[in-house]
Amino acid sequence: MKFEFSDVAAFQEYFGPAHNMVRRSVKEFVDREIVPNIEDWEEMNEFPRDLYKKAGDVGVLGIGYPEEYGGTPGDIFFQVAAWEEIMRCGSGGVTAGLGSLNIAIPPILSQGTDDQKERFVRPAIMGDKIAALAITEPGGGSDVAGLQTTAVRENDHYVVNGSKTFITSGCRADHVTCAVRTGGPGASGISLLVIEAGTPGYSVSEKLKKTGWWASDTAQIFFDNCKVPVENLIGEENQGFYGIMENFQSERLQLAVMANMTSQLAFEASLRYASQREAFDRPLAGFQVMRHKIVDMATLVEVSREFTYRVAAKIGAGLNQVKEISMAKNFACTTSDRVTYDAVQIFGGYGFMRGYPVERLYRDNRVLSIGGGTTEVMKEIISKFLFK
Ligand SMILES: Cc1cc2nc3c(=O)[nH]c(=O)nc-3n(C[C@H](O)[C@H](O)[C@H](O)COP(=O)(O)OP(=O)(O)OC[C@H]3O[C@@H](n4cnc5c(N)ncnc54)[C@H](O)[C@@H]3O)c2cc1C
Repeated sequence: MKFEFSDVAAFQEYFGPAHNMVRRSVKEFVDREIVPNIEDWEEMNEFPRDLYKKAGDVGVLGIGYPEEYGGTPGDIFFQVAAWEEIMRCGSGGVTAGLGSLNIAIPPILSQGTDDQKERFVRPAIMGDKIAALAITEPGGGSDVAGLQTTAVRENDHYVVNGSKTFITSGCRADHVTCAVRTGGPGASGISLLVIEAGTPGYSVSEKLKKTGWWASDTAQIFFDNCKVPVENLIGEENQGFYGIMENFQSERLQLAVMANMTSQLAFEASLRYASQREAFDRPLAGFQVMRHKIVDMATLVEVSREFTYRVAAKIGAGLNQVKEISMAKNFACTTSDRVTYDAVQIFGGYGFMRGYPVERLYRDNRVLSIGGGTTEVMKEIISKFLFK
């Protein structure tokens, strides 16, 4: 039996008619603007900049954000539905690049001034400006509290020195939500600044070459005596670490959703292929070992997705889900690791060939257990709840 995710989603307790309407409109946008071009964009290591504008114009980027800044507000499942349908394009790079605003603007929305929201949130939602998040440094990403980029206040601006790396959308971002050290060592000395590209002292590397996520631009960003106006400080000085941690919850949910969708797509492709491809005069699905592999895929995907939805619902209800979202991300990524591995195996040699969707899913999947906090860092977080 063919398992169509979009149909199944309509029956979930989490998605009502309004969610399904949003899902359909995102799907139409993805089918029209992204799917026909995906192979070219992957090979070009970039999607056109005007995709942001097109997505902004039809409201795709504003789903879940306040109306006063150009968004369409709604509960957390509107965003989950949108992320799922964008990921249906089969490219983690497009999904991550187009979605970089979703990790960059939430701290501005929750702690920023009205002026910052007008200057940075609205243009990102409208697709006029590209927003990125810059936390990770060449010296380390897991130890966020140890970051070393400094911002020293001088009169009405901060002088920023240091560098950030692996920044999604970093090559062409118009502004980055950047973690800097404004105080002493550790978490209590960190602030968040919005730093605009074009500020003297701000420069960007060439696109970093990656194993997967080819269609997204990933950069190292350098700050050399970069003067950032004090009005670009998000929230209070030295309180940035808490904003970063809050933001991580949403980023981890997005990554869990991406991992589940990766698994879903790999599973669907495997199901189709096993029914069509023949070996020893019968379809691959005629071998019990193949059917069981696909049954395991279906089971894992379903369990992982349901758990992620449950955690999302609790986050939406305002409950603290730091432990659970870490579990959901790890479970979703362990699942997608296995499902994409098995999908390539089912495709045999074709699974290793460019142009076959499972080949890209397999490559793109690898970063999901690294970005937004590694598997090991998630386990450290979970263990703190267990060993109180
Ligand atoms: C394609 C891509 C896109 C990205 N996009 C962004 C972005 O937009 N913005 C951004 O800020 N960052 C981004 N990142 C960075 C990402 O968040 C970091 O790579 C990640 O947090 C890990 O940091 P690191 O690479 O420095 O690894 P390290 O911190 O050096 O870790 C190396 C290894 O040591 C392990 N380790 C570290 N500490 C511990 C510990 N306490 N216990 C056990 N094991 C530990 C890690 O799990 C990992 O296996 C991106 C990365 C990639 C690859």
